[in-house]
Amino acid sequence: KEQIPAAARFIMERLQASGYEAYLVGGAVRDLILGRQPGDYDITTNALPEETEAVFRDFGTLEIGKTHGTIGVIVDHKAYEVTTYRVDGEYTDHRRPDAVTFTRSLEQDLERRDFRINAVAMDLDGNLRGVPGYEEDFARRQICAVGNPVQRFEEDALRILRGVRFAAQLGYEIEANTGRAIHEKKHLLRQISPERIRVEIEKTLTAPNPLPVLREYRDVFAEVIPELRETFDFNQQNPFHCYDVYEHILHVVGNVPPEPVLRLAALLHDIGKPRCFVVKENWGHFYGHEQVSAEMAEAILKRLRYDRKTVKDVTELVASHGYVFNRTEKYVRRRLNQLGEEQLMRLIDLERGDVLSQAEHVRKERAAAIDAFRELVQTVAEKEGVLKRKDLAIDGWDVLELGVPRGPEVGRVLDEILDRVLEGDLENRREALLEAAEEWKKKHIIWY
Ligand code: ATP
Ligand code: MG
Repeated sequence: KEQIPAAARFIMERLQASGYEAYLVGGAVRDLILGRQPGDYDITTNALPEETEAVFRDFGTLEIGKTHGTIGVIVDHKAYEVTTYRVDGEYTDHRRPDAVTFTRSLEQDLERRDFRINAVAMDLDGNLRGVPGYEEDFARRQICAVGNPVQRFEEDALRILRGVRFAAQLGYEIEANTGRAIHEKKHLLRQISPERIRVEIEKTLTAPNPLPVLREYRDVFAEVIPELRETFDFNQQNPFHCYDVYEHILHVVGNVPPEPVLRLAALLHDIGKPRCFVVKENWGHFYGHEQVSAEMAEAILKRLRYDRKTVKDVTELVASHGYVFNRTEKYVRRRLNQLGEEQLMRLIDLERGDVLSQAEHVRKERAAAIDAFRELVQTVAEKEGVLKRKDLAIDGWDVLELGVPRGPEVGRVLDEILDRVLEGDLENRREALLEAAEEWKKKHIIWY
């Protein structure tokens, strides 16, 4: 009970002082029971939304979802959600209840919640009240739907992905009946918006160990990313690999740090392999699959309504992966210039995760080569930073003054000069660069 933060305690105490019941509920209680840090603290009460507003009249309140019973109470510049006990009405679209009904019974409110570990309330003294069976779930470390799982997934199909996600985040098993219902009802996910699917996929992927659910519920993931199905059991017939494409992908996901861009890149890095497969002398090859995979990744991420930056970063990593590192400073400078330091470091993480998921006999040696490359990148990056066009000792105006016509040519001159500086065969001094620009002009713009 000491773990309930002061602001949440204050809200609960004030509701009680006004004659209402108030409990902490849902994810916060689950996380407190597990000793995890809750993301947000939701409060449930028998006060109707107008009554909650009246209790906190002297504080700011927000009508976050008043028709669904939720009022935001602002304490210390932070909004806490206070929701009236409710039962959900009919679900006709597998997404949202057509209407909600407020109730004065905490039990009924808990019954409408998705999983038993999420259907527990805590009072100010730390006493717990949950739906029957919740204690067993924590003891057995399992996810179990409240009530009949088939029915609960039919009401709201997003719960399918939430269940899988909680299993990945908590390292819990999914209880057998609930698991069967997840497989059985997965097609209903087609009715869920891409934004909500994206949130759950990302939370699953960035969980500490998503492999067990990605394996056991791969049919569910293929429902939301159909391209994944092509990789299932796809034999690579290649001596550098010991897993089929999907299993290899899973290992790479597990072998990169739990950051969204990297985990997405890992999930999608080989997605185009099956489409590029050719056998030569009994060996499987995947010529050019990086580009195909990158194009597929882009389409998938756009479909999931990812922001432009994430689409660009993930696609770039997928397109750039799989090249044995050439360990010269020149190469490092060029890569740093192309990708920037953050992306190059991510690419190294991806490559490392990739080789660690290849056949046993190549893992050690390839990982060591990548580690050496990482060190070289760090040295180069520290020593001189990343040189960009704007860091050159001349700029576009200088180039125009040399008589290069206004237009794309100007940038082309600067890029070529930058390349030569990065390669080390030109010094970044004004006179040297002007000379090089002059040469370029003579060579390319013969009509001057
Ligand atoms: P987290 O915040 O860590 O993602 P959470 O369990 O707190 O997990 P929220 O989306 O914040 O998830 O929801 C708060 C609570 O509301 C849940 O714990 C659950 O009791 C209930 N809930 C949320 N979404 C659903 C749903 N789709 N169906 C039924 N109950 C739900
Ligand atoms: Mg929450």
